Amino acid sequence: MSEFDYDLFVIGAGSGGVRASRIAASHGARVAVAEEHRVGGTCVIRGCVPKKLLVYGAHFAEDIHDARKFGWEVADCKFNWDVLRDNVLAEVDRLEGLYGQTLDSHKVTVFKTRATLIGPQKVRLADGQEISAERILLATGGWPFVPEFPGSEHAITSNEVFHLDKLPKRVVIAGGGYIANEFAGIFNEFGSKVTIVNRGDTILRGYDEQIRDRLLQISMTKGIDFKFNAPFQSIEKNDDGTLTVHLENCDAITADAVLIATGRTPNTKGLGLEDVGVELDEHGAIKVGDDNQSSVPSIYAVGDVTNRIQLTPVAIREGQAFADSVFGGKPTVVDYKNVPSAVFSHPPIGAVGMTEAEARNKLGSIRTYTSDFRAMKNVLAGRNERALYKMIVNAATDQVVGLHMIGPDAPEILQAAAIAVKAGLTKADFDATVALHPSMAEELVLLK
Ligand code: NDP
Repeated sequence: MSEFDYDLFVIGAGSGGVRASRIAASHGARVAVAEEHRVGGTCVIRGCVPKKLLVYGAHFAEDIHDARKFGWEVADCKFNWDVLRDNVLAEVDRLEGLYGQTLDSHKVTVFKTRATLIGPQKVRLADGQEISAERILLATGGWPFVPEFPGSEHAITSNEVFHLDKLPKRVVIAGGGYIANEFAGIFNEFGSKVTIVNRGDTILRGYDEQIRDRLLQISMTKGIDFKFNAPFQSIEKNDDGTLTVHLENCDAITADAVLIATGRTPNTKGLGLEDVGVELDEHGAIKVGDDNQSSVPSIYAVGDVTNRIQLTPVAIREGQAFADSVFGGKPTVVDYKNVPSAVFSHPPIGAVGMTEAEARNKLGSIRTYTSDFRAMKNVLAGRNERALYKMIVNAATDQVVGLHMIGPDAPEILQAAAIAVKAGLTKADFDATVALHPSMAEELVLLK
């Protein structure tokens, strides 16, 4: 008999925690997991999944509009936020149930409560119950970061945005990253007046400059306003319930809702980490090695709480690698090279590998290829919106080291093309592949 209550105690049942729990259990470990909010975590409950459903819902605005050019006699359409919101939240409930079932079927004990560390191998639940475990995995994720300014309490974050009572007629969004651009697209398609307010002059830092510029240009054409170099000073709540946002270097803006999307910070506060000796970095993230082990040998961490790459599929890989390494006798290290990513803006962006600037810095001599085209569907629809595909090639080896795309279905196409980049294929390999015609993706093998 083990001297511990469990072999593994996981704090946080999000993407990383659930994967680690399930795999560790399938390797024969006795596993428990504590979750203070809802099983499924950010991605399933208040992130990727409900967001993507809203993106689909929003895109109907363009599809319905364009359908007329394809011969459909579409009567005047009205969008009903309550219907979409309730359907999305019902889908989230369904998925939460499935995640719970997965844990049950793997015989993982679930404590629907907060757990904190009280020792290297001991946690305390909110009701005072103390539980020992040979190993503890911290998978507590991240939480929206809200800068401090007067009136910030009147704003919402991505935690609340899925639950809005009604669709705001005017929305101000703080930040120029993933969430800001995705929700700007969503609200704009629903007919809200959207203003993105950014502290700097760059949206989507980290993405290739040409692709970012294209999104900016298309977003502005669609009616989204951008204010740059305009940090928030304060939010004032007016008697009629509207909010006035005061900005540096810019006139005040009045809106019905203000969404703060200025990044996410690792969820490490109040977990007892300092008392137990778990080291954090300067951003409050848990420091771990390649093996996901923290500065305390019995304590590991995966996912956003480690602030490596804040993406669900990365957290899942880390959870899997941890469980396989520690409980499955199969030491596995996650490979962070060429991780594809997407922004589900309107239109969406997909990218893998180095941007042109990164490649120039790292490799020196590179070749770039671009295809700047209007998807045939957009041509017939009279939609003046151009897609842009960009390939970065190492001139010395002919290897494709980066692919960057904006246009309809770019993430769907990019995921498949990312295999080629990951595999180290060359421009010649792309050229040798016969085009699939007519498609947008064929542009990737026709770049000149
Ligand atoms: P991002 O990191 O994408 O963007 C943050 C934005 O806020 C940047 O424009 C940044 O400006 C700005 N900002 C940062 N700090 C401040 C501050 N103190 N005051 C004013 N502005 C500030 O964060 P998001 O919140 O959009 O998303 C969080 C994370 O969630 C993402 O990094 C991503 O990993 C993940 N995510 C992924 C999605 C996907 O895969 N499609 C979708 C949504 C989220 P600056 O550029 O100057 O730093």
